Amino acid sequence: MNIIEELVDYSRLCWDRGLTESTGGNMSVRANDNTIYITPTFTVKHFLKPKDIVRISLDDEKLGGEKEPSSERKMHLLIYKERPDVNAIFHAHPPYATAFAVSGEKIPINVLPEAVLLLRNIAYLPYKMPGTQEFADAFNLELKKGKDVFILQNHGVTVVGKSIKEAYARLETLEFLARIVMITKDFGGIHEIPQKEIREYIERIENDKT
Ligand SMILES: [Zn+2]
Repeated sequence: MNIIEELVDYSRLCWDRGLTESTGGNMSVRANDNTIYITPTFTVKHFLKPKDIVRISLDDEKLGGEKEPSSERKMHLLIYKERPDVNAIFHAHPPYATAFAVSGEKIPINVLPEAVLLLRNIAYLPYKMPGTQEFADAFNLELKKGKDVFILQNHGVTVVGKSIKEAYARLETLEFLARIVMITKDFGGIHEIPQKEIREYIERIENDKT
């Protein structure tokens, strides 16, 4: 499978799994130093096809494709410039995680091992008008701190990854976590994994990688 097909498959999966709605959300992948593939503007992701994907440069020149690139591309380009380790970005409006973004309440992470693994570098950004430079700039400071998950006040979420698969896993895990936390509240409260266990788990995972 080539990188464009993979981007299309995972973007469609976002819509099919209810992780974004209607034409909402935008996804991209870095192919090389100066080539980004990004989803087009105003497209229901369920119907996305490889020929719809737009090729742009890091300086926002259109390099190929029939459609226009997502209006959120400034955010994608800023992240790629700031973070050489990032090769894929998913922005979406998953309902449970977005409910946290609307309420302003923070999502507890230390409740599931998968969430600890994928979501521990989480940032909360203030509301900025979507598609503007101000919206993109709000990411700058948090990117420098190495954050991978961005909860956008009154809007949705953006996640990044080394690969399409990793960015997608972050998005789906984030939405599952938000959903489980909300269900748990009805069961009388959240029980967090003890801090000692969290530290040992992160150590174990990081040692496994080396
Ligand atoms: Zn959005």
